Amino acid sequence: MEQKENRTNTDTFPIGIFPVNNALEMILMFDQTGKISYANEIVRQKLEYDEKDLCGRHISAVFPGTFQAAEDDFGIKDFELGTVHNLVAYRKNLTCFPVEAKIVKSDVSPDIFVCMAADILEKEYLGREIERIKQESQEAMKVKSEFVANVTHELRTPVNGVLGNVREMLDWELDERTEKSLRLIQRCCDDMNKIINNILDFSKLEAGKFSLEPRKFHFRNMLEYVKANHINKITEKGLDFFMTVSPQIPEYIIADELRIVQILNNLLSNAQKFTSWGKITLEVFRTAQVNDRIELFFIVSDTGIGIDAGDRNKLFQSFSQVDASISRKYGGTGLGLNICKQLVELMGGRIDVESEKNRGSNFSFSIWAEVCEGEEDVLNRPDDIKNPLSFTSLDASLGGESGGSLENVRKYGTHDNQESLKKNLSKLILCVEMENWEKAEMFMETIRQLTEEAPWEVKRIALRLKMAIQKENYEKVTAEFEALNQFL
Ligand code: ADP
Repeated sequence: MEQKENRTNTDTFPIGIFPVNNALEMILMFDQTGKISYANEIVRQKLEYDEKDLCGRHISAVFPGTFQAAEDDFGIKDFELGTVHNLVAYRKNLTCFPVEAKIVKSDVSPDIFVCMAADILEKEYLGREIERIKQESQEAMKVKSEFVANVTHELRTPVNGVLGNVREMLDWELDERTEKSLRLIQRCCDDMNKIINNILDFSKLEAGKFSLEPRKFHFRNMLEYVKANHINKITEKGLDFFMTVSPQIPEYIIADELRIVQILNNLLSNAQKFTSWGKITLEVFRTAQVNDRIELFFIVSDTGIGIDAGDRNKLFQSFSQVDASISRKYGGTGLGLNICKQLVELMGGRIDVESEKNRGSNFSFSIWAEVCEGEEDVLNRPDDIKNPLSFTSLDASLGGESGGSLENVRKYGTHDNQESLKKNLSKLILCVEMENWEKAEMFMETIRQLTEEAPWEVKRIALRLKMAIQKENYEKVTAEFEALNQFL
C-alpha cells in the first residue's frame, strides 16, 4: 500500500531509470495535482532545465496556458486524454515553442499521467529535409539515367560501324581463318548491341521515359518471326521446339509488337541457353475478353536446369542472376527478366515463373491487346470455321464414343461436354499412372479444347495440369486432376 502511494512520489521515478530516457520525443510524467515526477533527457535539453530541476515543479510551468497551477483542480479533467493537441511549451527562461502533445493515463498507476510531446518546428524542418533529400535523389536518378541513356546511345554508333564493315567484308572472298575471325567479331558486336539495348531500355524504364507504341499487326506472323529467330540455335543444340496458338486469337491485334517480340526473344533465349536436352515450347491462349480488349496468355517452357525455389524471387530484380557460377558459365547481365517484367506490367499484365531444379522452367506472362475492327466477329465464330484443324484431336478422341453432337460436346457445361471431360480425364490419369506421358499429352490437348469456353478458374487449372504433364510431374498432375475433377 505504502509502495502504491509512493508511486506518485518524485523519488520513485529517479531520472534515468526509464527506457524512454533516450526517446526522440519529450516525455513527462505528473500526478493528479499536476506535480511533475519524471522528465526524460530530451525534455531537459529542450526546456533547458538542469538534471533534477524539473521534477517537483507543476506541469503548468511547461504548459502555462493549458493547465492551471491550482492544487485542487489543475485542469486535466477538461483536457481530452489520448488525443493529439497543439500546445505551447515554455522553456525555463520563459521563451516558448509549439509542440504536438498527447497525454494519457499511465499503465502503471491511474494516478499518473504521461505526456508525450514533439517539437512541431523540428518535425516540420525534418519533413522539409526529407522532402529535399527525396527530390535531390530523384534528380540524381534522372541525371544518372540520362547519362546512361546518352552513353549507351553513343556506344551504339561505333559498334554498328564495326558491324556494318564486318558484314560487308563477309561478302568478299576470304580465306577460312579470316572469315572465322570476322564471324567472331560479328557475334561479339551482336552481343554488345544486345547489352546496349538492354541498358538503354532499363534506364528509360527507370526514368519513367518509356512509352509503348501499339499498332495493328498480324499475330501469327509475329510468332513465326520469333520462332525463326530461335529455331536454328534450338535445333543446333538437339532440342525440340513446339509452338501452339489458340484458334481463339484473332489474326490481327493492336499492341506493341516490338515489345512482345522482345519479351518472347528474352524468354526463348534463356530457355535455349539453360536447356541442354529435351524440348522448348511456346504456347499462347486467349484467356479473357472485355469489349474489344483481349487478354493473351503466353507460356514458354523448357526442360533445362530449372531454378531453386529460394532463387525464384530474385529473378525479376535488376542485375540479378541466380548465382555467380551461372553468370560465368552462361553470361548475361541479369537485366532481361527485369525489363520483361516492366514491359509486361506496362501492357497491363504480369509475369510469373514456375520451376523445378533440374527439371525445367515455365515462364508465363499475360498482356492486354486490342482487337481490330471486324475481328470481334472472328472471335465469336465457332472454332472449326476459324480453324478447321482445331478440333482434330477432339474428334479423334471422341472416336464415336459420345452419343451427343459434336457441337454439344464442345460447349462447356453441357451434359455431353462434362461426360467427355470425365472420360478424357480418367484416360489421362490412366496414362499418367502408366507413365505414358506422350499419350497423356494427347488427352490433355482434348481436355484443353473441351475447357476452352470454361470459366477462367477452370482454364487455369487445365493450364497447370498441362504444364505438370509436360514436366512429367506426377504429384502436381494428381493435385491438378483432383482440382479439375471438383468442377465436374
Ligand atoms: P540474363 O541476361 O543474365 O540471362 P535474365 O534477367 O534474362 O538475365 O535472367 C536472370 C537469371 O535468371 C539468369 O542468369 C538465370 O540464372 C535465370 N534464368 C532465366 N531464365 C532461366 C531458365 N529458363 N532456366 C533457368 N534459369 C533461368
